[in-house]
Amino acid sequence: MKLYSTKDHAHVVNFRDALFKGQAADRGLYMPAVFPRIPLNELVELSHLPFAGMARAIAGKYLGDEIPAQGLDQIINRAYSFAPALQSLDEYTDVMELFHGPTLSFKDFGAQFMAQAMRYFIQDERREITILVATSGDTGSAVAHAYHKVEGIRIVLLYPSGKISPLQEKQFTTLGDNIMALEVAGTFDDCQALVKQAFADTDLRDKQKLTSANSINIGRLIPQSFYYFWSVMQVYARTQQKVIVCVPSGNFGNLTAGLFAAQMGLPVQKFIAAVNSNHVIPDYFDSGKFTPRPSVLTLSNAMDVGNPSNWERICDLFHNDVQAIKQHIWTTSVDDSATVAAMQRVYKDNNYVIDPHTAVGLEAVRRYRETVAADKALPVISLSTAHPGKFIDIVNDALHIEYQLPDKLEQLKHRQKQATAISAAFKDFKELLWEL
Ligand SMILES: *Cc1c(COP(=O)(O)O)cnc(C)c1O
Repeated sequence: MKLYSTKDHAHVVNFRDALFKGQAADRGLYMPAVFPRIPLNELVELSHLPFAGMARAIAGKYLGDEIPAQGLDQIINRAYSFAPALQSLDEYTDVMELFHGPTLSFKDFGAQFMAQAMRYFIQDERREITILVATSGDTGSAVAHAYHKVEGIRIVLLYPSGKISPLQEKQFTTLGDNIMALEVAGTFDDCQALVKQAFADTDLRDKQKLTSANSINIGRLIPQSFYYFWSVMQVYARTQQKVIVCVPSGNFGNLTAGLFAAQMGLPVQKFIAAVNSNHVIPDYFDSGKFTPRPSVLTLSNAMDVGNPSNWERICDLFHNDVQAIKQHIWTTSVDDSATVAAMQRVYKDNNYVIDPHTAVGLEAVRRYRETVAADKALPVISLSTAHPGKFIDIVNDALHIEYQLPDKLEQLKHRQKQATAISAAFKDFKELLWEL
């Protein structure tokens, strides 16, 4: 597989390099140089496969020249002991539940594949590598679980003390083994600054073979396209119609993965980019200008992003042409009160409990149908990015119920947190890393 940097299309690397580098040296993001086209009749045949089979087929299209069949089988089998599920709300609407993985958010799909791909590539290397991750929630837990007990890789997670929910904290501080959690006396931005400084410190970087695993890594995006193929082809096989896909978005990695799938030939009519009150992208659609802002806090906090990092990839894909972007994507901003109203509406109409991120998506679907009458009878898949149990307080308040915590979270309550407290000063962090 060949990938180029968004900042310099002549700078080309293979998948292995892009995976371990994360970001190009020119600070650009890696993009597939070619999207392998899959004809519709082949996709229809693939639609009979279970999720892991579909994932294996798509992975082979990208990576077949770089990883032999046996290696790809191993990566897919180890990564995906779980699968997405479709939940029908009405004749035209399916919700794709992406929360059946170990940490109950869609981020498991990307993190698991990335971890197994790295494991595959380093199996014949002798030195351990260290992956640094700054996290404010879902990413940290997905990465920690994906790399837990993966030989040859150590994870160092930095998170802001007191700024995430106790249950979220326990999702990545109770694993132990090769997962080290650092509780930083500071903000999420301080954590990110520490990681950046560590990478800039060449002695430290070389001594500990530092690598990143953040959301801009192409090793997380490629696998996120697998579930678009699986779900859209299920619905296409049933309806014989192009599908509208709604994606609750923050950093726009998930939507980018969907656009990759469409580039490969997946029959998608339109993507809906559903955002919360952080509306940099709807503003861009109105004005043609991309103006990052400080993020504002909302109920769908995993989407509280004021400077969506993957937008650069979407602009690259469409050659910075706003009109072309609008042909493929429709967008709307859903505030907290509309989010709560959507949770209540879906509960009342379908007896189905959704988390606030999923609610932003379903409200956007409702608005799209109201606005674009011509597409009213087209099938829609709306992505459910997190299990409602992860946001149990918001769910209980909105629906006036007492939601039962899922087992995976209930068990965490009784486990012991293991984290090392550090200051936000780089000197302390460096000392600790140096001695690992
Ligand atoms: C990360 C996250 C999102 C946003 O995904 P992006 O790829 O950053 O757009 C949405 N919902 C949940 C629950 C998340 O954890």
